[in-house]
Amino acid sequence: MGGTFNPIHYGHLVTAQEALSQFNLDKVIFIPTGDPPHKTDEEIASAEHRYLMTVIATASNSKFFVSRIEIDRKGKSYTIDTLRELRKIYTEDVSLYFITGADAILEILTWKDTAEILTLCKFIAATRPGYDLSRLESLKKKILDTEDKIFVMEVPALAISSTDIRARIKQQRPIDYLLPEGVCKFILKNGLYR
Ligand code: ATP
Ligand code: MG
Repeated sequence: MGGTFNPIHYGHLVTAQEALSQFNLDKVIFIPTGDPPHKTDEEIASAEHRYLMTVIATASNSKFFVSRIEIDRKGKSYTIDTLRELRKIYTEDVSLYFITGADAILEILTWKDTAEILTLCKFIAATRPGYDLSRLESLKKKILDTEDKIFVMEVPALAISSTDIRARIKQQRPIDYLLPEGVCKFILKNGLYR
């Protein structure tokens, strides 16, 4: 599961847990993105802070892991490079699933490397009940052989987003119960997003 995790929240964690159970996965690896090469957005916490928050949020789950693969890579991270590297670590007999939100999958699969990406992994696209899947369906029709490669998974009641959490911190509104308590405290301690 790739993401900025700026910060990680219960939307990400519930999605990962649901994927584990529905697809019978052995583990979920959270992969925070590296720092953007030219930091344009001052709202993005440093890669180290985002990495640590992801570790704090996942530490108690024996099937959740965090990878530094994108954080330690120089330059901009592309999904294709990460997947190629993961494929070197995990041999062909291991199934890799890329877990994303339904919006993010549309971005990833409209890139140029779509065909190769689909040889490296399958996709689990998380949606909220009632989410309009027509764009995803029409994208699937354009790409051949997506039948057993893109799976849609419904995740309950998750309107939580990092954007909303950052806005709440700025406006001094509560963020409790949207993300793990340890991550809340880490944000306060380090004065992030103010
Ligand atoms: P931002 O608001 O800054 O874009 P975000 O909440 O979307 O942050 P990301 O780190 O961008 O979080 O997301 C990582 C992955 O998790 C993406 O694939 C995204 O679609 C998915 N995701 C984010 N929020 C949810 C949620 N509430 N439920 C399910 N998936 C989510
Ligand atoms: Mg997002």
